[in-house]
Amino acid sequence: MPLHPETDVDWRRMEPVERAAALREYAEQTATCTKCALAKGRTQVVFGSGNPDAELMFVGEAPGFHEDQQGVPFVGQAGKLLEKLLEGIGMSRADVYIANILKCRPPGNRDPLPEEIASCEPHLFRQIELIQPTMVATLGNFATKLLSGKPAGITRVHGYEQEVTLGARKVLLYPLYHPAAALYTPSMLNVLEEDFARIPQLLESSIGEPAPSSEDAANDTVVEEQAVQLGLF
Ligand code: URA
Repeated sequence: MPLHPETDVDWRRMEPVERAAALREYAEQTATCTKCALAKGRTQVVFGSGNPDAELMFVGEAPGFHEDQQGVPFVGQAGKLLEKLLEGIGMSRADVYIANILKCRPPGNRDPLPEEIASCEPHLFRQIELIQPTMVATLGNFATKLLSGKPAGITRVHGYEQEVTLGARKVLLYPLYHPAAALYTPSMLNVLEEDFARIPQLLESSIGEPAPSSEDAANDTVVEEQAVQLGLF
């Protein structure tokens, strides 16, 4: 049974309202995070926003100027496009959960540094544990590489869903172009719209089951060994 190392709570058995409360509490703790140097330059931590029990979660890169000012992810031009794309598939921000890899704005909106990602990723994994989405759409290269665990870039993998285990959960990972990149490149925007259009059907097929714990896996092995002894395999 997966127990969170800091809280000793089995999140897989928590009710949605308990998970939502735990997420709020975690956001409060994260608001004072000083795990990396970005803490010094931020206006505030941009934890994430939306439905704490969402089936679909979006993961972007890092807050920009407006996000840092307002404390909410994707509120600038890229956010407006994300909202429009959501509208196109009959959804709104309130239906999904939106977060970034980094919770604090890098100076001048530069790319995240490896050490910043390493410091901040536990926040994202905890969010995924508590929200329990069935599908995670990664926006752009950084989120896609981090959550797929593979080096393949977004140009190659966008629009190709893949099953991944994140923490203790199997989810459907769906890489998409970052809306900020699509804003000024019409051909990329077309591809992003096409990839977005598949989301409703993919959501139906994504079940988001718990990954087997090591205990479950050990039990499965015992059952399989017994079955072999009984000549069932
Ligand atoms: N780009 C991101 O990746 N995240 C935001 O929150 C805004 C722009």
